Amino acid sequence: MSKKACSEADDSIIIAGLGISGLITASLLAKNDFSIKCFEPMSKSPKKQVVDRRTTAFLNPAIEVFKEIGVWAQLEKFAQPLSTMEIIDFSNGQSSEPAKTRFNAKEISISQFGFNIPNKEVVNILSKYLKTKKNIECNFGAKIVSHYGYDDFISVKTESGSNYNGKLLIACDGRNSLIREREKIKSFSTSYNQLGLVFEVTHKFNHNNTTTEILENGGPFTIIPLKRNVNCNYSTIVWMNYTKNIREICDLDQSAFNKILQEKSYNVRGTIKLNGEKQVYPIITQFAKRLYGKRVALLAESAHVMPPTGAQGLNTSIEDIRTLSKILAKARSEEKDIGGNSVLMKYNKSRLNSIGFCI
Ligand SMILES: Cc1cc2nc3c(=O)[nH]c(=O)nc-3n(C[C@H](O)[C@H](O)[C@H](O)COP(=O)(O)OP(=O)(O)OC[C@H]3O[C@@H](n4cnc5c(N)ncnc54)[C@H](O)[C@@H]3O)c2cc1C
Repeated sequence: MSKKACSEADDSIIIAGLGISGLITASLLAKNDFSIKCFEPMSKSPKKQVVDRRTTAFLNPAIEVFKEIGVWAQLEKFAQPLSTMEIIDFSNGQSSEPAKTRFNAKEISISQFGFNIPNKEVVNILSKYLKTKKNIECNFGAKIVSHYGYDDFISVKTESGSNYNGKLLIACDGRNSLIREREKIKSFSTSYNQLGLVFEVTHKFNHNNTTTEILENGGPFTIIPLKRNVNCNYSTIVWMNYTKNIREICDLDQSAFNKILQEKSYNVRGTIKLNGEKQVYPIITQFAKRLYGKRVALLAESAHVMPPTGAQGLNTSIEDIRTLSKILAKARSEEKDIGGNSVLMKYNKSRLNSIGFCI
């Protein structure tokens, strides 16, 4: 891409990808009065989008970010407090008594560890929030196919051939990030030959704000409570196991599936039934060796992918977003170049060790 071919540079931050991390990034930076240009290959039309049936256990620091953006009051309506964490370990076989342990948030003098919120509600509320901001331009159906960092600005090109300029490009383009690839930033990946099966259930017993993780050979089966304003108990299940086993379970008809669900949950929530569709996600661990390139910052799954166990993935991404936002605001207040190497090295140094610890 030639410098001459590009239109005039401006002070915008360019965000590649409006998945859940891109939306949170765009919202927080827009709230902090940065001028933002977002690019997302998926269509804007909800009909053409695949609904994300996952829920996220947002830990308390993530909730503070939603409060800072100003969307917590809307999200709270869908937010189930997570007060108790219970682990039941059958990995020594079903014949012996399982090892059981429970942690309550009160033990560390807090009301809850965090809140479980459906991803689709987070996406809806943040998408509506972005529409209210004048300092943000969202381009849907627009995949970034190339980018080039110059000394004083960065230029990106979309699939349709249009060029856009800014000071910094933030890669929220997911685990197969092409921006990371073009920057020649190495990433290390481990595959477990496992899938995560996600679905919603109704159950007889009250969940009492408890998350229950049942450990068995093959992988954890986790029951995470959901908030509903109806007289019935709902939870999300994340069931991790070997690819072959999950595929077989998915092929079962509803009655056979409910039977295996009842056995697998050891009756901890009483009669339990599938409610709605199932979704399957590959389980990997991956992390990038470096979180920046020339006028480029990597965050969220472009930087790190973690298995769902322990609710680390998106919470770690939100910590990346919060850190980068603070560093950029400070650089702006000191009239520094927000895409400059020294600013991005600071972000890299702040986050790389913490992400490594999680893995
Ligand atoms: C079963 C399961 C349960 C989980 N539960 C939790 C939990 O409880 N707590 C937690 O913290 N984490 C959890 N996670 C992790 C969390 O869901 C992920 O971290 C998160 O969904 C990743 O979002 P993302 O925006 O980084 O990536 P993605 O959702 O992959 O978004 C990337 C976006 O970039 C776009 N894109 C791709 N290429 C380009 C391009 N060239 N130009 C522009 N845009 C592009 C894509 O279209 C996409 O919209 C869970 C994960 C799984 C699998």
